[in-house]
Amino acid sequence: MSNTTHTRPSWDDYFMGITFQVAQRGTCDRARVGAIIVKDRRILTTGYNGAPAGLPHCDEIGHLMINGHCMRTLHAEQNAIIQAALHGVSVAGGTIYVTHQPCLTCAKMIINAGLKRVVYAGHYPDENSVAFLQAAGVTLVRWQPETRPSEAAADVDNVPSN
Ligand SMILES: [Zn+2]
Ligand SMILES: [Zn+2]
Repeated sequence: MSNTTHTRPSWDDYFMGITFQVAQRGTCDRARVGAIIVKDRRILTTGYNGAPAGLPHCDEIGHLMINGHCMRTLHAEQNAIIQAALHGVSVAGGTIYVTHQPCLTCAKMIINAGLKRVVYAGHYPDENSVAFLQAAGVTLVRWQPETRPSEAAADVDNVPSN
């Protein structure tokens, strides 16, 4: 028998670890963002930022910059919510884990998708999104690793806005 004790990650650490894996699939190098929607401790959908299905990605043909934002991509949160619509899955009452704080458009979609909790890791400076989520009664939690240091979380601050 081993003397080392295995420490199980907390639920938030477990799901955020998976969210960082999902983010690796992002296709816009301005920020690779991941999101997963969880309900009753089960993952319902995942999403990362990228061009609509079948269209070329930023990593292939460059960004589509409009007013300082890359508009080619759907955001990770949007893709996670759309995936639920595509498969007919209700996410009402669920939690969305995101590698970055949601932008205002995503915040509005999170509210109307019936999501009740947002757990995010890195800052995305948008006071309006915070204000909207709070006004709608959505719990907003900045994730801090509970069970172990995470290398994945080290580099998510100060990303350019998408
Ligand atoms: Zn881009
Ligand atoms: Zn967004």
